[in-house]
Amino acid sequence: MSNQPERRSVASSTVDTVDIGSLPLLGVVPKKMHAQVIRPSRYGDPTTAFQHEEVETPPIGPDEVLIAVMAAGINYNNVWAARGYPVDQVAARQRRGETEDFHIGGSDASGIVYAVGDGVDSINVGDEVVIHPGVWDNDDPWIAAGRDPMLSPSAKIWGYDTNFGSFGQFARVQAHQVLPKAPHLSWAEAAAPTLVGTTAYRMLHGWQGNTIQEDDLVLVWGGSGGLGTQASQIVREAGGRAIAVVSDDERGRYAMKYGAIGYINRRDFDHWGIPPLVDDVEGQKKWSAGARAFGKKVWEIAGSREDPAIVFEHPGASTIPTSIFLAQTGGMVVICAGTTGFDAMVDLRYHWTRQKRLQGSHGTNDEQAQAYNQLVVDGKIDPCVGRVLPMSDIPRAHAEMGRGEEVFGNTVILVGAKDPDQGRAS
Ligand code: NAP
Repeated sequence: MSNQPERRSVASSTVDTVDIGSLPLLGVVPKKMHAQVIRPSRYGDPTTAFQHEEVETPPIGPDEVLIAVMAAGINYNNVWAARGYPVDQVAARQRRGETEDFHIGGSDASGIVYAVGDGVDSINVGDEVVIHPGVWDNDDPWIAAGRDPMLSPSAKIWGYDTNFGSFGQFARVQAHQVLPKAPHLSWAEAAAPTLVGTTAYRMLHGWQGNTIQEDDLVLVWGGSGGLGTQASQIVREAGGRAIAVVSDDERGRYAMKYGAIGYINRRDFDHWGIPPLVDDVEGQKKWSAGARAFGKKVWEIAGSREDPAIVFEHPGASTIPTSIFLAQTGGMVVICAGTTGFDAMVDLRYHWTRQKRLQGSHGTNDEQAQAYNQLVVDGKIDPCVGRVLPMSDIPRAHAEMGRGEEVFGNTVILVGAKDPDQGRAS
């Protein structure tokens, strides 16, 4: 049975399409739009899974808003979407009653509001905005009871679980996802950080009992990447100290530019992956020597024998054993992905005797997204723009991300914007 809202077309009867890098008159929605589209028959390498197509501009429901996308951020989630693994997103949506047989991803956007649903009164055509990626059904009983929407059964990530993300000229979003764009940022800068930034904000501020406190030490994996650069800045703004883990010195210097107090090169160690089983005495000895040496690096940077209060995790299988080993007694390993693998091993001896917490985290709720966006609007968080590329580079950018190349902040794609500097308030 379909649980989709009734949607109406907001397209003009006279305008067919507009070129990439341009906009129609404010409020005039073309019938069709250019988009980078994934189809199930092409699942696999992002280089070929994405292809340029012209598709119908999406209709909107009463609580939805249509955004003319000026710039779109690249995230790892559409590497997964292109592969059709671990979730076939098109099939998953069809099971929920949606009819489209394609996926237009993209979970970060800056843009201009072009149409609003009949039930939306707080957003106007012409508003300059960014979009947060948390999506849910507003009539979900869990949410109606006042609980965290991101823990509800209907919670999803926009532009990954849902269609019509920011890799088309027009994106469909729920009204509550819309946030004000920081006026001092260009369209490209504004599109860069919201998904990773709001995710990092929830990870660090969202888990009561282990939220980041003044002076806390935090170990941040992937310190030069999308999540990592946002996490270190959020730690700094909360008065904490972030230590970045990276795979070379250039990445380490980049991480320190964005809030880390120091960095560890993980290539100096080799105890990664699933450790030897507990009754393999020699193997265990060797593994713990590696993990302890890594921990000593943390102490060196901290300036005392201090373990991290929070370990900010996303590599998963390769690093979880070290993360659990290193977190301080009563501390938390908070994780939002398993980029290196999903089969992670936890040595329960350290986990229970030292009463540590392994906390999953996903996406953002409105409150967390608004708090994060305020830090951006106030100029306290840099969006960490890496490369700015044309729309035709969406396939290549995802393929490179999937291979772990070009890991310096956030890659951005120009859609309606003509150049990387356009959009800053003068
Ligand atoms: P990214 O910019 O590509 O960064 C990934 C980082 O992982 C790199 O900086 C890399 O750093 C590090 N890395 C790669 N291989 C590693 C290994 N074997 N051991 C340790 N670190 C390794 O990606 P991102 O945007 O930060 O996203 C990272 C993951 O989080 C992705 O899987 C993404 O889908 C997920 N994510 C989830 C959510 C959510 O809400 N659940 C939100 C955002 C992102 P070095 O090679 O320099 O160490």
